[in-house]
Amino acid sequence: MHPGLCGKKFNPAAMFLFSHLRIASVGCEVLEFTEFYERDALAVVGGAEHLMEVCLVRVETSDGEVGFGEAIGYGSPESVEVTVNSVLNRIVKGEESTNIWHLWDKMYRATFRLGRRGIIVSAMSGVDIALWDLAGKEFGAPIHKLLGGNTRRIKGYITGGYYRPEKDIPRLIEEVEGYVRSGFNVVKIKVGGLSVEEDLKRLSALRERFGDGLGIAVDANNVYDFNQALRMGRGLERLGILFFEEPISTDYPELSTRLAEQLDIPIAGYETAFTVHEFREFISRYAVDIVQADAAWNGGITEMLRIGVLARSYGLPLIPHYSAGGIGFVASLHTALTIDSPMIEYHLRPNPLREALAGDAIRHSDGFFEPPTKPGLGITMREDEVKRFRRARR
Ligand SMILES: [Mg+2]
Repeated sequence: MHPGLCGKKFNPAAMFLFSHLRIASVGCEVLEFTEFYERDALAVVGGAEHLMEVCLVRVETSDGEVGFGEAIGYGSPESVEVTVNSVLNRIVKGEESTNIWHLWDKMYRATFRLGRRGIIVSAMSGVDIALWDLAGKEFGAPIHKLLGGNTRRIKGYITGGYYRPEKDIPRLIEEVEGYVRSGFNVVKIKVGGLSVEEDLKRLSALRERFGDGLGIAVDANNVYDFNQALRMGRGLERLGILFFEEPISTDYPELSTRLAEQLDIPIAGYETAFTVHEFREFISRYAVDIVQADAAWNGGITEMLRIGVLARSYGLPLIPHYSAGGIGFVASLHTALTIDSPMIEYHLRPNPLREALAGDAIRHSDGFFEPPTKPGLGITMREDEVKRFRRARR
């Protein structure tokens, strides 16, 4: 580790020296875990079928320091891989590694004709996270400390209740019992893969088993039309559900606003929006009561900070989304600590790409996550695990 700010006397000369480190290379590789598969509502209705895939990004500086990032590439991780290796690499190579906000703009301006969302922005997210990891390592501080963030613990909630053919209501209850045993008292259950009535039955069974001591939220992953969402929302209100996530398509912020006006239950979303520009459509119209973004997807730590600040200016909280590998979670955790998020999403379903990539920075007890303490993201990369989950060339 470089001498830095963490536990050592600040040295302005050292800072001047470190701020001139150049980016030597940027690379991406695809990791996958295929032994466990569950479906959300979007997959059930005919879309977004994917294995657990993670795009691992590395940015190396001229002095050999490496920063790690993660980009989400559901269904097409190779596209993200090519974008990082062949497009973004050329754009940032030779630049000063700590000019992160400038590099974000440079990547965006150089690629915006190709796409302002999706693969391009996801790939940028991975590079951005790796640059923040590098900055933390250079200055010897965890990312949230560099950003002036809080060092409190942050409450987590567990997402589950995915659809599997054999998962009946008793098995769903067993799954949630496991989350409660692990110390969490808020869960989020997938809905939209069955009829409104059948999903409400699943939720009623959970409410009956766990009582009001368990906070229950739901996530429809975009699948309802407006009237279905309204009907579901009224059923959710009767069950005291905490929030209703992505009730309708991300393409219709106006309909989400109408829904939010007609329902008392908070509307949450939309993880499938990209950059502050698309989030502005949801935030400024009050199409959501809770903003959800993901550092590994929506534009990196830099863009999540912008989204969080915009949300705050409209009086809305940002609760980070999470669904893939461990690096993405830790990147969102640092951002959540910085923008003072009230809660953060987490998963306990089998996924070794969570612990294998970032296990030493993910510590929770009694349903709360501790702030990572080591410089940068605070992870120690286990190259044996990377090798184990590396996708064979197809
Ligand atoms: Mg979601």
